[in-house]
Amino acid sequence: MSSYVTAVLPTDQPPLMHQAVDEAVRLLREGEVVALPTETVYGLAANALDAAAVAKIFEAKERPSFDPLIVHLASKDQLDLVADVPPEISATLKKMVERFWPGPLTILLPKKPIVPDLVTAGLPTVAVRVSSNPIFRRVITALGKPLAAPSANRFGSISPTSASAVQAELDGRIHLIVDAGACMFGLESTIIKIEPGSPKMFIDIVRPGPITPEDLKAYGKVRQATRTVVDEATAAPGQLASHYAPKTPLRLLESPDDFIPEEGKRYALMSYRGEEKDGYLNLCDWEEVMMLSPGNGKLPEAAVRFFYVLRALDKLGVDEIIAEPLHEHGMGIAMMDKLRRASRRV
Ligand code: AMP
Ligand code: MG
Repeated sequence: MSSYVTAVLPTDQPPLMHQAVDEAVRLLREGEVVALPTETVYGLAANALDAAAVAKIFEAKERPSFDPLIVHLASKDQLDLVADVPPEISATLKKMVERFWPGPLTILLPKKPIVPDLVTAGLPTVAVRVSSNPIFRRVITALGKPLAAPSANRFGSISPTSASAVQAELDGRIHLIVDAGACMFGLESTIIKIEPGSPKMFIDIVRPGPITPEDLKAYGKVRQATRTVVDEATAAPGQLASHYAPKTPLRLLESPDDFIPEEGKRYALMSYRGEEKDGYLNLCDWEEVMMLSPGNGKLPEAAVRFFYVLRALDKLGVDEIIAEPLHEHGMGIAMMDKLRRASRRV
């Protein structure tokens, strides 16, 4: 692995923003990888049509080659460049793209040969979306090529929602991080597959995320793809059981009654609101309590803070992080999925 000096370029003033965008485009044209903000999490981007550039993503992330990457398009007009849309689903796809793009919805479609097999891990499908982040859009529009961009973290680790989190993950491994502050959603995109059905299409959720089953139900019969460890290796290779894991052991405590603290062990609590009535606050003498939604107690606020809180708790050096369960609706579905993976129980 080569060692680089990793520049972090700000974007909070117009001239600086233009410089950062220009530098990102220059590096991408040269076949390099660049960390860019998206509305979900920070992504590690490379020209999706250049296999050698894409290989650098896998190298920097230490990502196994069986885990496919999402391809970001400059606009929906680039869809035909990378995907073959089956006629049976094209009307539904068109409506969904109109409604959700640019935005955090990734769609699996049959791939065109122009997409390198490395991007799709040899699968016949390609995962595509259009990001709504204005900096990302400037870069991809200027480049004019689709960008493969998985989350900008080491494989299996916590996704980054700030430039400093990217730095903690990839410093010295890439040339550039474009800093555009916190990500708007804080959770990775929802991934779906549209399957032909009558009278309605089936919308299979392959990975839960910011676009919820409630949002999708107007477009077909929504099915939550239930994954087993065997499925993981085949249908959705990236959705591995032990994903999003902090280095500290994490336990999702479905009920406060299930917790018996061990003598001499140090625990930290990931709490939803930090309220006593939830039954978790007084379970033990917590080393630290961090709240997902200290403000309004709503799931989107928790989503924005989710990876930040996980990362902060991981730095404490406690013996175990205990996580309170979240309501499993809306964005809570995605966070519970991640907590189960982080606690290595699917
Ligand atoms: P990331 O970009 O790091 O959030 O990860 C992308 C994830 O998208 C992968 O880990 C897979 O779960 C999923 N994915 C991407 N491409 C495909 C594909 N062709 N088929 C199935 N799942 C995919
Ligand atoms: Mg990832």
